[in-house]
Amino acid sequence: MYEKADVITQRLVRVLYHEFLCLLINIDELNIVSSTNQVYKTLTSSMIDGFIELGIFMKPDITEDEIVEWLNKPSEVTFYSFLGELERQKERLQEALEISRSKLILDKYMKQGAWLVGEFMVELTDYLNISTLKQNGVKYVIWRTEDDEKVCDVCQSLDGTIFPIDEIIPKAHPNCRCYYEAYTKTEKSIIA
Ligand SMILES: [Zn+2]
Repeated sequence: MYEKADVITQRLVRVLYHEFLCLLINIDELNIVSSTNQVYKTLTSSMIDGFIELGIFMKPDITEDEIVEWLNKPSEVTFYSFLGELERQKERLQEALEISRSKLILDKYMKQGAWLVGEFMVELTDYLNISTLKQNGVKYVIWRTEDDEKVCDVCQSLDGTIFPIDEIIPKAHPNCRCYYEAYTKTEKSIIA
């Protein structure tokens, strides 16, 4: 299921890259504000489509309304803050472009945008995964890493840790690839 999030993330990054390239091409003729607005508008609507696609793939019984509701929760980890972050990024890009219309600046924003997209895909994937586990009566989860050379020390130290499903600690870094598996034994056997 995390592969699906990866596929959608990569597609969104391609959208972002394409939009930034168009911005670079048009920047001499068009005004900077309307061009950057267009880039972020396209990205935002592609993101919503991507979120909905991922949601329905992972949790076929989820409704579009349910996803949109989650996306609009005023929490640190959802679309609400994603949009705020995009808005700030857009303003900074506009300012930077007014001073210097270089490809380096676009590259920088391209990277930041890609990072944001990846981060929010991970958030949604975790949310859907946990809500499916809860629906199935799971009370505890085990933290799992991808178990390769890219896993960081913090995540490595969490590998195999059991959490009550409502008390999972936040991920230590953006684009974390760790995932949660159902822990099926009873509470008693955890304490034992
Ligand atoms: Zn991790």
